[in-house]
Amino acid sequence: MSNHEKIAIAIASHAGKTLSAKEIVALAVARYPDANKSSILVADHSTSNVTGCKCAHTDARLFDRIGQSQYVIRPNPAPIGNAPKRTKVAAVPADEAVTVEQETATA
Ligand SMILES: [Zn+2]
Repeated sequence: MSNHEKIAIAIASHAGKTLSAKEIVALAVARYPDANKSSILVADHSTSNVTGCKCAHTDARLFDRIGQSQYVIRPNPAPIGNAPKRTKVAAVPADEAVTVEQETATA
């Protein structure tokens, strides 16, 4: 079971509440005493960290960060497997890059 799933289950009954990251970690560890406390990174499952869990910034995210270490527990987050991919800024492929053709003046 991933940390994402563990956290999701541990916080499910707190949907809609605002909790601190510390409180969320405490809930997860209370439910899963074998979980590594330092690997439960609340920000990774929210809108505040782009490099975290794949749920971050998708409908599957578990939290909305509303302030310094304050998170709203999202009710019914989407299943992580169905989460749409994060929006990335697509690089323009070289063959589609706009080329400006310069007209050469003919005398
Ligand atoms: Zn996650």
